[in-house]
Amino acid sequence: MLQGEEFLTELAKPKKIIITTHHKPDGDALGSSLGLYHWLKKKGHDVHVVLSSDFPAFLEWMPGFETLIYYPEQPDRAQQLFDEAAIIFCLDYSALSRTNILEPVIRAAKGQKWMIDHHLDPEDFAQVSYWDSNAAATAQLVYTFIADVYNDKEGIDDVIASCLYTGIMTDTGSFRFKSTTSAVHHIIANLIDAGARNWEIHENIYNSSTENRLKFLGYCLLNCLEVIPEYHTALFALTREDLQKFNVTTGDTEGLVNYALSIKGIRLAGLFVDRTELIKLSLRSIGDIPCNEICKKHFNGGGHLNAAGGNSTEDLQTVVNRFKSVLPEYKEYLT
Ligand code: 5GP
Ligand code: MN
Repeated sequence: MLQGEEFLTELAKPKKIIITTHHKPDGDALGSSLGLYHWLKKKGHDVHVVLSSDFPAFLEWMPGFETLIYYPEQPDRAQQLFDEAAIIFCLDYSALSRTNILEPVIRAAKGQKWMIDHHLDPEDFAQVSYWDSNAAATAQLVYTFIADVYNDKEGIDDVIASCLYTGIMTDTGSFRFKSTTSAVHHIIANLIDAGARNWEIHENIYNSSTENRLKFLGYCLLNCLEVIPEYHTALFALTREDLQKFNVTTGDTEGLVNYALSIKGIRLAGLFVDRTELIKLSLRSIGDIPCNEICKKHFNGGGHLNAAGGNSTEDLQTVVNRFKSVLPEYKEYLT
């Protein structure tokens, strides 16, 4: 769905543009942001990607990552860019609260907000919104935004293609999730034709663990996994001490929840991490089990049907217990 079509001609002349994405960006958030960044630069715009936080180390090879601006490190410079920006792209989020400390900055900014996103229940804050909850990734929407809305498939070069490939690959669990339609594979084929080095991207993302991270995975599998067979559910609960023991940094817990889901018969999996300032949880499911509804109703969050997240300021055990107490509500899906 495209709303605000009348504003699309704004990009005909060079503009000052900021690209924003959600807090603790993942592969899709960064891939879609940097893909759009490189395309807008090619079109002659003055573009900056401003982030609210760091991101996983396995994304640090992405073309353009050295140009990223971290708001907490350079608040004055970032604020000036927001003051001057004619357009602020909002990628891979549809609720401003997902940008954490950037929320008040984006709200106060005078520039037009252009949202490109695939999350459910978008908030009404954008002048242009290009939104489809059936899209597998925001990077897929950036692809069609460039190729179809701006009719510039030829403008997608190898650098842009690598960024967009990364976004689609990570948000589809390497083309495994239900969202991986034939249309997604057609786009992926076009990205490879445009020069995305698919094998190299897989290496960079999945074969770049440190020894410590792998040992941390082993530790979690042995010590932190709990299976609740009667509800076909499994979860990891990681305490502050667990994280300290392995000096865990952003991204080290990425993908852990999928190990819980990989157990035969398990249909709902959770990861609960005590990040000191709050408990962050991630849910993954198979079939119709609504992770987004569970997160929205009980854990101050949201997301997609089969992948959602939330947070709580209560202590880890309380949050885990609440999760368990919620399971009977979803008995029809889980038993
Ligand atoms: P993850 O579990 O990987 O952090 O997030 C999975 C999906 O859940 C994300 O794509 C995002 O849509 C959603 N999500 C994660 N955390 C939150 C949150 O705190 N609030 C909302 N609304 N959605 C979240
Ligand atoms: Mn996404």
